[in-house]
Amino acid sequence: MAIPTLDQSVADLHRIGKQLATRLRRLQLATVRDLLLYVPVRHDDLRSMTDIAALAPGVQAVVRGRVVAIANRRAHQRRMLLTEAVVQDATGSVRCVWFQQPYVAHAYPAGTAVVLAGTPTVDRYGLQLTSPVIERDSEVNLHAGRLVPIYALTAGVTQKQLRFLVSLALPAAGQMTDPLSDTIRVREKLLSRADAIRSVHFPADDAERAAAQERLLFDDIVRYILRVRASREEMEEACAPRIIVNAAMVERVKGALPFVLTGAQERAVGEILGDMTASTPPRPPSPREGGDLGGKPMQRLLNGDVGSGKTAVAAVAAAVVADAGRQVAYLAPTEVLTVQQAAVLTRWLQPLGISVACWTRTTRRIDGTPVTLAVLRAAVRSGAVRVVVGTHAILADAVQFSDLALAIIDEQHRFGVEQRAALRKKARVSDDGVACMPHLLSMTATPIPRTLQLSLLGDLAVSVLDERPQARRPVATSVIVPAKRLEMTHALKEELAAGHQAFIVCGKIDDDGGGELATVTEAFERAKRAFPDACIGLLHGRMKPVEQQAAMEAFAMHETDILVATTVIEVGVDQPNATLMIIEDAERFGHSQLHQLRGRVGRGAAPGRCFLATRVDAPQVRAHLSRVAQTTDGFALAEFDLARRGPGAIFGTMQSGHDVFPIWEMDPALLDRARRVAGEIAASDAGVTAAHLE
Ligand code: ADP
Ligand code: MG
Repeated sequence: MAIPTLDQSVADLHRIGKQLATRLRRLQLATVRDLLLYVPVRHDDLRSMTDIAALAPGVQAVVRGRVVAIANRRAHQRRMLLTEAVVQDATGSVRCVWFQQPYVAHAYPAGTAVVLAGTPTVDRYGLQLTSPVIERDSEVNLHAGRLVPIYALTAGVTQKQLRFLVSLALPAAGQMTDPLSDTIRVREKLLSRADAIRSVHFPADDAERAAAQERLLFDDIVRYILRVRASREEMEEACAPRIIVNAAMVERVKGALPFVLTGAQERAVGEILGDMTASTPPRPPSPREGGDLGGKPMQRLLNGDVGSGKTAVAAVAAAVVADAGRQVAYLAPTEVLTVQQAAVLTRWLQPLGISVACWTRTTRRIDGTPVTLAVLRAAVRSGAVRVVVGTHAILADAVQFSDLALAIIDEQHRFGVEQRAALRKKARVSDDGVACMPHLLSMTATPIPRTLQLSLLGDLAVSVLDERPQARRPVATSVIVPAKRLEMTHALKEELAAGHQAFIVCGKIDDDGGGELATVTEAFERAKRAFPDACIGLLHGRMKPVEQQAAMEAFAMHETDILVATTVIEVGVDQPNATLMIIEDAERFGHSQLHQLRGRVGRGAAPGRCFLATRVDAPQVRAHLSRVAQTTDGFALAEFDLARRGPGAIFGTMQSGHDVFPIWEMDPALLDRARRVAGEIAASDAGVTAAHLE
């Protein structure tokens, strides 16, 4: 076959069915380029070959041999189609069996040289490999006998299919343009981009894989920095509505909150209002159709630990803008959170005469009352609704504001420039051609180490909430090894008896969404058995948004006592009556994430407890989890994550080509190099080109 081109459709690579094409599109794999940039989440080491005679039950192994017999048959009781084979090498032979995969018998007839990978089990006939990975033995193996790439999957796409398609796409890697000049590349000792892409999928060894990951990560950081630079320059040109702060309104909204703001909250409010009031000196305030546009767009990040009270700060800012006759968009990351935050803001702002809307795919309310989409759309367009709480979808073009002056982005985990780009589209262009932008407040609970604040958030001003609201005590955290599970169950019974609620969070499984579903469903069934009198809810990302919302609401209304969930709940679910959290397979999470999760409990009067459960009783796991148990300071944990993780460790969470790498987990040395290179590119004769930004 001819060498494919980057923009060619995946369907041209191989005869793939319509169904598979649709599923690949779900992974956003439409073209050859997409496949090349779909970096594996990890590699399995299937390099060392085992002699068949040396196979041991329970120990994963790779063997190389010849099929001596293979046949399909139906299992008698169940209508299951079995494929049975015997594979032999110089030392012995082993039985293999596959279920419902009759093609195996056709693809690997007797006499075929094969490589098998699997974990042997033993029954009365001896050792057996059940559903091993099988591949023809050849010079370049894809599935065994090497470092084997493991990709993030969606239902109905297999690792084997993906590996095969990627291998067909690889010859096109040479067509990838390299955004770095040879001079810089050689000086920085980086692979070429084409080599990096080849090696990131099918590396010869660990060193090659690390070098490939480093190069791609380097590109992502450089791209990010260049985009931030571009957006900063654009911002410096732009103007924004100058908000006249009504001091009486500030006092009224503070009075409407059910608590007194902490010193840190007061300080953040002051900084935000200061930003929005400031005028651009060279542009005198000029009254236009929308009022005074002589301001400078605020670009502020509100950084505060879970439970530090970011919502209240946002509420004061929103009230001031609404009171000035303008509109606010409050964006939450999930449907569940949107509905929850809308309820809180409605409760606080509606009594002040500020109309708050909730706008998600499934829930549309104005001041708590359900309305039709048409009514909602009209109310936002006319300006009757001042505060619109919604998912990120409300930045889409279809939603028209009459006078959007402030966008608040809650729980922003990544500092992608996408939302800012979307906001820029909402800019109005004034008579003299100056773009007028809404002010922007992003909020995150992820503590960003100071070292990184300086290097990457150069274009954002930062307000830190470093003071806990008084009522909040640290969550008592303990590590639970298998032998101590009873203790944990006992604690949960105690909390339930006291009328409190609990979360059970299940660890993420990275290679296959189906595994995650199985884990959470299993935990749900186990909880039902262990607590027959309790009402137990289930929440995971595969449920429909309405169902997710119903599960959340049931927990919020205390209709359920225990909520078994995946990390869907990570971002901001607030139930003050929840006092206990169990995190299963806790070792799969980083420190910062564990800290975020436990922040979901102990938000009310009673103190919170958290159990970090693990099935792996190993010293490293204990050390990892003990640190979280012993440290209550989220910033300290983030610094530790940063020190411990090199660029390789975080690669799995990053997707090449999108700004989604978690910068606070980045190796500072790599960051510094990338920053220097970005500076060189910007200052070079050719300057920043499209190749640098895409
Ligand atoms: P986060 O920063 O994680 O978004 P929230 O805004 O959800 O935190 O606040 C956490 C909890 O603390 C909420 O129940 C909120 O009502 C409460 N809270 C916020 N500020 C204060 C304060 N100054 N005093 C007492 N409680 C507060
Ligand atoms: Mg919050």
